[in-house]
Amino acid sequence: MDLNYTAEDLSFRDEVRTYLEANLPADLKQKVLNHKRMSREDFVRWHKILAKQGWVGTGWPKEFGGTGWTATQRHIFEEECARAGTPAILPFGVNMVAPVIMAFGNQAQKDYYLPRILNCDDWWCQGYSEPGSGSDLASLKTRAERDGDFYIVNGQKTWTTLAQHADMIFCLVRTDSGGRKQEGISFLLIDMKTPGITVRPIIMLDEDHEVNEVFFDNVKVPVQNLIGEENKGWTYAKYLLGHERTNIAAVGRAKRELEFLKRVAAEHQKNGKPLIDDPVYASKVASLEIELMALEITVLRVISQDSGRPGPEASLLKIKGTEIQQRLTELMIEAVGPYSLPFDPAFMHGETENSIMGDDDAAPLASYYFNFRKTSIYGGSNEIQKNIITQMILGL
Ligand SMILES: Cc1cc2nc3c(=O)[nH]c(=O)nc-3n(C[C@H](O)[C@H](O)[C@H](O)COP(=O)(O)OP(=O)(O)OC[C@H]3O[C@@H](n4cnc5c(N)ncnc54)[C@H](O)[C@@H]3O)c2cc1C
Repeated sequence: MDLNYTAEDLSFRDEVRTYLEANLPADLKQKVLNHKRMSREDFVRWHKILAKQGWVGTGWPKEFGGTGWTATQRHIFEEECARAGTPAILPFGVNMVAPVIMAFGNQAQKDYYLPRILNCDDWWCQGYSEPGSGSDLASLKTRAERDGDFYIVNGQKTWTTLAQHADMIFCLVRTDSGGRKQEGISFLLIDMKTPGITVRPIIMLDEDHEVNEVFFDNVKVPVQNLIGEENKGWTYAKYLLGHERTNIAAVGRAKRELEFLKRVAAEHQKNGKPLIDDPVYASKVASLEIELMALEITVLRVISQDSGRPGPEASLLKIKGTEIQQRLTELMIEAVGPYSLPFDPAFMHGETENSIMGDDDAAPLASYYFNFRKTSIYGGSNEIQKNIITQMILGL
């Protein structure tokens, strides 16, 4: 197995790097590199810049307006974006609902939604989880009852990321309560402006408004918003979850954060010397770097097999990737200590140039650390990923 990049890969990397240097706005780059919070406008602005270049649908086939890139090219692109400090392209439209629409939607749905997703004309959110139905997703209770040309939807979703900005939500709803619980689920696309939808914020440990509860009270959804067949939604939902876990290892971002960590640890002192020269701290950084190198090689091995669809190896990448991301934030806090503690929302939203504490590297780090606790829970918790590995890879 040859894991080295070919000459074409390297020239593609140069092309991406040059493009990002010329087109990534400096204010967005600074926000990302400095762990600041991104606004709706920040995400949309970057999405539209990339859309103009035709580089949003990096995993999409060309026929739908995608790049048609190989897995290696996608990996290089993601690495370069992370290295440059671009905002994320949010996955809910491009990487989650779009593949489902391509595979199971009808022609009218493909024609209408896919170009809008590429251009970020609609902001999408994901309505899967409910109170009591997270890992055990198939037990979901939000009901959709057919009434002529409409479904009438009642129930509640929760943990809905950035639903406060959303124009559309893709939802799993129960259309049949008899039989196996997986068999009565359907996949609906719902306009967030429909009367009867209420979005309530859930404020998290880092005091940020990233997730929400979404309530449905007699919400009328046109039947043409059903994806595929009624009661076959579980098949589509599983297809989507496979795509949700791609690039979850986020190796590029972890490499960038490791460099940040080393710089900050060189600037902070312990016993009159740079912390990075402290043997105990240095050994923690070194073992994390080794883990990260091993993860990168594993990602390249998975890519070199390029099956076109993410398999159960994605679970392995998710666990190791999120463990490394969380460990990085722990070592950042250890490096800057109490300088991370003052809570300075104006600075984190980019409204003031300097933080109240005077250490601008350290100021957002407590919030960043708390925010990253989520990574081992969302996208299927790490315990659930271990169950998948034991069943699908180890055959236990
Ligand atoms: C920040 C954040 C954003 C999210 N965004 C979205 C979103 O946009 N849309 C959406 O639909 N959902 C979203 N989620 C929900 C996420 O998918 C669920 O939180 C996740 O699936 C876990 O479900 P749960 O919270 O109900 O926990 P539970 O399923 O109740 O699990 C509780 C604990 O028990 C463990 N556990 C459960 N079952 C098993 C088992 N069989 N074996 C071993 N251990 C088990 C879990 O690992 C966990 O540690 C988000 C979650 C977070 C934290």
